[in-house]
Amino acid sequence: MIETDVLIIGSGPAACSAALYTVRAGFKTVLLGGKNFGGQLVQTNEVENYAGFIDPINGFELMNKMHKQCQRLGAEILQKTAVSVKKDGKKMLTEIEGGEIISSYAVLAATGATARWLGIDGENKYKNHGLSACATCDGFFYKGKTVAIIGGGNTAFEDALFLTNFCQKVYLIHRRAGFRADETTIKKAQNNPKIEFVIPAVTTKILGDDKAVTGIELQNPETKEIKTLQLQGIFVAIGSIPQTKFLAESGVKLAESGHIIVDEKQRTNIEGLFAAGDCQDAIYRQAIVAAGSGAKAAIEIINYINQVK
Ligand code: NAP
Repeated sequence: MIETDVLIIGSGPAACSAALYTVRAGFKTVLLGGKNFGGQLVQTNEVENYAGFIDPINGFELMNKMHKQCQRLGAEILQKTAVSVKKDGKKMLTEIEGGEIISSYAVLAATGATARWLGIDGENKYKNHGLSACATCDGFFYKGKTVAIIGGGNTAFEDALFLTNFCQKVYLIHRRAGFRADETTIKKAQNNPKIEFVIPAVTTKILGDDKAVTGIELQNPETKEIKTLQLQGIFVAIGSIPQTKFLAESGVKLAESGHIIVDEKQRTNIEGLFAAGDCQDAIYRQAIVAAGSGAKAAIEIINYINQVK
């Protein structure tokens, strides 16, 4: 059994920001790195809207700095994944993979979110064979090739711009004519000669030759016309799904969207269990907002432990 005051499940901006507060309040703090160490930001090429950095910072580098900052102040980071959490008197007992238990006064769920997929024909077959949900990770493999990005949010636009560094041509495919991405980023993409917009277009099939992606089938939702594009790579950027399954199985109340329900103090329905970051945020999903909610949760955790310890 591992004993700590605070257990933080996650290693993204919410987790790290919370850890800074709890260690500086004198509480032993352990972070669980999880399967996606560093969270979604490590897959982000350039971050330009996290205050404090004059020039854009690479997402991986930003998370690396946060981890080092936490460790310098005394937080411990374990490369483990949580599988269940339960309340046991004044303590919380968290089981990690392999069966070991971590006992703590409070747990912060900062489990983040992962990529959403389309759920269409050919998707499962061609994942990692020309189909990816991470342009930052896989874009380099498509040097000189023609690729498509699916989505109309900031991720899709930023990925499309990033891919123009390697690819000969980038189709930006979106199911409707309006976009969710911010105006500055939309303009950058519109002014980039390598990006061609295919809108409105619903992706109906991923096409391939049994080994790798060779094209994409699209349908115009207005005219119902079907067309195909020949290409070598497809990147899906249609949002994310909160990572909350094991928490729901542990009795944590979720909204219909799968996000953890918290009150204004980041408290869940289980006393001693708090939540912060994208696992409980269906609206903003920004690194800076996640960091803020982590700090808020940590302040409430400090108050809570001071009462129960
Ligand atoms: P998002 O903003 O939720 O956009 C998802 C896009 O995918 C939407 O355009 C949506 O279309 C489309 N979509 C959803 N389900 C679909 C489906 N089944 N088939 C086809 N298209 C589908 O997600 P995101 O781009 O990942 O961004 C998430 C959050 O992170 C946002 O708040 C965003 O601003 C933020 N973000 C910020 C930055 C930055 O500031 N540097 C970078 C990346 C992300 P509809 O519009 O038609 O619903």
